[in-house]
Amino acid sequence: MSRFLFPPAVPPSLPVIGSPQRFPVHRIYCVGRNFSEHAREMGAEAPREAPVFFCKPADALLVGGGDMTYPMATDDLHHEVELVAALGTGSNAPVDRDTAAGMVFGYAIGLDLTRRDRQAEAKAARLPWDVAKGFDRSAPISALTPAERWQPGNQAIWFDVNGERRQSGHLDDMIHDVPAAIAALSALFELRAGDLLFMGTPAGVGPLRPGDYWQAGIDGLPMLQGAILGR
Ligand code: MN
Repeated sequence: MSRFLFPPAVPPSLPVIGSPQRFPVHRIYCVGRNFSEHAREMGAEAPREAPVFFCKPADALLVGGGDMTYPMATDDLHHEVELVAALGTGSNAPVDRDTAAGMVFGYAIGLDLTRRDRQAEAKAARLPWDVAKGFDRSAPISALTPAERWQPGNQAIWFDVNGERRQSGHLDDMIHDVPAAIAALSALFELRAGDLLFMGTPAGVGPLRPGDYWQAGIDGLPMLQGAILGR
């Protein structure tokens, strides 16, 4: 007899470019309002002193992108293209920038899909964002590129819908860079190998609709793409 009442869920994992081994995912953390222009388009000011964090469940990943059905409980699904940093080591105590930089295993392109109507309601009622941010398949993500092969600098980050550019920016427009965000996060949570950190989105967020085909890119990383099917 198995010691489990039913089979435990298989942990989500990501392919790694140039490796036969996969990266097992522990948690998904996200930085909010990390590009000034995007914070402004959302009617907020970007916090300079410390990043804003929220979480998604690890099984919200849609590995490799591809087709997804338009999610339930929204009429305003929004795209947010983001750089994702993946931790190869953890820490039970706060770390400084230099230590944080050495904890990154690799990088991916991810989407922080958002039920914008649910988020607006939550903001208005001063309620949590989980329903807006943490729904099923809310985090399409590419394979990981190891940090030895690619480092964030001033690369372009962009998002197209049906061949039309919707979002574009540069990674050095991020208010809190990857080491700064990891260092701040380490003061709030015990970090583990397998943690992912979505780094925030540039301006131009907008709706995805059934029938839309989307492509997301960051210079030097493999492209992520998919389509939205009617529900
Ligand atoms: Mn975001």
